Amino acid sequence: MNPENLKLNTICTHVGEVADRQFKGAVSPIYPATSYNFEGVDEKRYPRYFNTPNQQALTRKLAALEHAEAALIFSSGMAAICTSVLAFLQHGDHVVLQKALYGGTHNFVVNEFKRFGIEYSFTKGLEKKDFEAAIKENTKLIFIETPSNPLLHITDIKMVAALARANNIISVIDNTFASPVNQNPIAYGIDIVAHSATKYLGGHSDILAGAVCAKKEHIEKIASLGINLGGNLSDYTVWLLERSIKTLGLRVKAQNRNARKLAKYFSKNEAVSKVYYPGLKSHPGHELASTQMKGYGGMLSLELQPGIDMDHFLTSLSLIKPSMSLAGVESTISVSVRTSHALLSEEERKTQGISDRLLRLSVGIEDKRDLIADFEQAISKVRAKQI
Ligand SMILES: *Cc1c(COP(=O)(O)O)cnc(C)c1O
Repeated sequence: MNPENLKLNTICTHVGEVADRQFKGAVSPIYPATSYNFEGVDEKRYPRYFNTPNQQALTRKLAALEHAEAALIFSSGMAAICTSVLAFLQHGDHVVLQKALYGGTHNFVVNEFKRFGIEYSFTKGLEKKDFEAAIKENTKLIFIETPSNPLLHITDIKMVAALARANNIISVIDNTFASPVNQNPIAYGIDIVAHSATKYLGGHSDILAGAVCAKKEHIEKIASLGINLGGNLSDYTVWLLERSIKTLGLRVKAQNRNARKLAKYFSKNEAVSKVYYPGLKSHPGHELASTQMKGYGGMLSLELQPGIDMDHFLTSLSLIKPSMSLAGVESTISVSVRTSHALLSEEERKTQGISDRLLRLSVGIEDKRDLIADFEQAISKVRAKQI
């Protein structure tokens, strides 16, 4: 069957699977070999060459999910991002980065680019004029992330892709927060789509992995640097990731629904002073999100009213767990300035608009009524102590 004609949940369940010809089992077997016979075969297999049966099975599924020609899997989201970015850069090149990126990507750029002689600029905003103003003669790559972490800013994917094309620049997007269920940037002209598979693709908070999807020519370039850098994922984990993605469509759609309901609930709750969710009409990126996203995602951020003791609130939650990571089937909450954005200076946080009181909620698949009840009991506990 041609994967292009299949729908989301069918791609998740079936595309790429390796047939078990020996025992006719229902799932792909695991091929853990690091040593393959090379006599009389077309392909010389070795895990670091990205070509084991399990890696190839999973990349077929990922490529189909992102409507890309090809894909690669890495040992982490950062391995996928760093390898993909560096594959297109030389000493003396310049990179334009959207302001407010994932903390790890931000640190990679500000701490490592200098040693390679790579220049960079962060945009001042997310409008076309901001990207235009940042492009220089030697700009070779533009990097965006939408929705962004933690304020869920929305960047116009089509606009950035067109601007990059017109200037002969490679465009890269971190599509982690949306997942392939909610957003497929290649359809809008983006060259390279990167994911932290640790998040929605894995979805159960038990896998560290990364992925990148693009056309064959770009994937080959990334693979040739990747073979030298060696950030590959073990085939045991590759197999587990293939298993996890079977329910990606079901999970993410449930998370979209829950997040939307919770965002509406928080926006009417007097204990909450601010809600950031692209699915709310009040969100500045709502209209744009409606044009480029199929669902608004499972991430939302909020600020509690200034009088509420945040630490007491966090320890009073019982179902929603404080956590650094996100996108699992369980709901988690994090204080951005202590986790994802802890390494940023106060100045950098201020320019990005990340307040000390910002809480980021990764909404899981639990029943929304239980999540709301947990929030309410925690607020009541804090209030009872403060009186
Ligand atoms: C987690 C994350 C990453 C980094 O992924 P790792 O798997 O932790 O290396 C990159 N981008 C975003 C948006 C993330 O949330």
